Amino acid sequence: MSVLSILKWPDKRLATPCIPVAEGEDLATLIADMLDTMYDAPGRGLAGPQVGVLKRLFVMDVDWKTGPRNPLVMVNPEILWRSEDSQPGEEGCLSIPGVMTEVSRPTQVRLRWRDATGATQERDFDGFAARCIQHEYDHLDGRVTFDHLDEEARTAAEDRYRLHKDQDA
Ligand code: ZN
Repeated sequence: MSVLSILKWPDKRLATPCIPVAEGEDLATLIADMLDTMYDAPGRGLAGPQVGVLKRLFVMDVDWKTGPRNPLVMVNPEILWRSEDSQPGEEGCLSIPGVMTEVSRPTQVRLRWRDATGATQERDFDGFAARCIQHEYDHLDGRVTFDHLDEEARTAAEDRYRLHKDQDA
């Protein structure tokens, strides 16, 4: 088990659509490392491309900051349905540290995925979990929060990010 380094925007790998995980591929080490990395960050979601693995999987745990750990591992996830009603909300991203971005997203989604044991799962999610899933799912398609903004908002968000990075350096 180890903590991996997290790629920071604008690394090109964060803008690259990911390929499906192959049937029977052994993901045990990668999944353990991704969970370690997410908890260490600390964050509530982490997608493959954020650690340089351009494959369709992500891990999330929307509960652990306020209760016991409840990790979910989503391999080859598919969003089967999105609710018609959307809501804006502030989102952080481990690859865009220090900047919150307001993104409007459907409030509910239905997801089908393979879990860490290879079993197929299907469930509806709402609330923060629905938002987190859509955020991580975006990463698998090479999209980040900035890609949801119009040009003016995007420029402002990118400026805030660069300023934050310069202050950190
Ligand atoms: Zn992110």
